[in-house]
Amino acid sequence: MKKLLAQTSLYAHQYLESLAQQAVYPSPENIDALNALQSPLPEEPVDPMEVIAKLHHIGSPATVASAGGRYFGFVIGGVLPAALAANWLAGAWDQNAFNHVSSPSGAILENIALDWLVELLRLPEGCGAGFVTGATMANFSGILAARHALLQKQGWDVETQGLFGAPEIKVVVGEEVHASLLKALSLAGLGRERLIRVPVDDQGRMRPDAMPELTDTTLVCIQAGNVNTGTFDPANAIITKAHQQGAWVHVDGAFGLWALCDPKLDHLTMGFNQADSWATDAHKWLNVPYDSGIIFCQEPLHLKAAMATSASYLMYEESREPSHYTPELSRRARGIEVWAALHSLGRSGMVAMLEKHCEFARQFASGLEAAGYQVLNDVVLNQVLVSFGGAEKTLKVISDLQKSGVCWCGGSEWQGQTAMRISVSSWATTAEDVEQSLEAMLNIAGRET
Ligand SMILES: *Cc1c(COP(=O)(O)O)cnc(C)c1O
Repeated sequence: MKKLLAQTSLYAHQYLESLAQQAVYPSPENIDALNALQSPLPEEPVDPMEVIAKLHHIGSPATVASAGGRYFGFVIGGVLPAALAANWLAGAWDQNAFNHVSSPSGAILENIALDWLVELLRLPEGCGAGFVTGATMANFSGILAARHALLQKQGWDVETQGLFGAPEIKVVVGEEVHASLLKALSLAGLGRERLIRVPVDDQGRMRPDAMPELTDTTLVCIQAGNVNTGTFDPANAIITKAHQQGAWVHVDGAFGLWALCDPKLDHLTMGFNQADSWATDAHKWLNVPYDSGIIFCQEPLHLKAAMATSASYLMYEESREPSHYTPELSRRARGIEVWAALHSLGRSGMVAMLEKHCEFARQFASGLEAAGYQVLNDVVLNQVLVSFGGAEKTLKVISDLQKSGVCWCGGSEWQGQTAMRISVSSWATTAEDVEQSLEAMLNIAGRET
């Protein structure tokens, strides 16, 4: 075991060191080489050293270098050193975080991490929360808590009776709602098309003046951090109005919720902490390994009512049981890496990382604008949308940039315009990475006329 883990650690280190030189996206040859892993199922055992050597030599070159500093696609985030190391140790621990009996350390570390998160994000004290796979499941969990609370007020027990014959829940989302939220609504039996879409402004913010009539059976879903522009819905206005009518407000804050830790961003995030539930991803801006999402619920009882189970052989402690707050029973102890990430960064480290990313985004935007390209969004966070002039040219620049291997950005459509999307969210990104990537963008765009 010692030799195996030492060798694996060498491979991993070698891999991370190589990222600075390696193409950010694997070549077609390296991807094809993965075929070599597709042997018939071995009949006999194989030495683990041999298994891992094969995985490294064939697998590592075929990875997307999102752990490096020049991956700006989606909002992926890197992996902080402390979080990676904690992930290894947690792998060795092999804890089942389902309850206190299966893993006291898993449950306790999770509690500490949640307390820290609630404090860091300035969410209401006493929030309930659960560790899930990602923002899609966090959105799903928030919607289930809302569904419980809204129907309970109507005297309907949705957990036992289901939705057949239940009072209707009116669902209100912004025109810019994330696809994962629609998926979550459909999983929750509320339907992905049976909803009211509120028009948005030129940055993608819901227009409070265009909100429909809200009731005490309404679920309003707002966004902290639009995937294209990075913008935030006007939480104050919407939540105040919604709460006057007894509606539930859920926040999809997959990456944007992290901005709540930074008082300098209060102009964007003000009011968000008044919502009823919040979904976020630790695997995005907190830079922990995949997969790691979190659902917070202002009133823990609602989340617990939607999730709790009991069975004769399950013994529960008086204290918080992790599985009472998540769809899963058995699962990995995600709280360990979150704890390690927060411990290593501290509040100031987290704020500094976010601000650095916002600064890098502004540098990209000003560099592109100075060269005459059109930045389509107000760069208020870590997201930049740029058009290189026309859909065809923009798509060609994106494709050439991706092939160059210098950095990786994806494409998007923003209010009728084709754009390249730059998202800065990795701790590993340096000023040199930004400089080098910007240079590649400008060179490639300059070539295409
Ligand atoms: C990434 C993202 C999601 C989905 O998160 P997963 O972790 O992929 O499930 C939802 N909403 C927004 C705004 C996102 O950026």
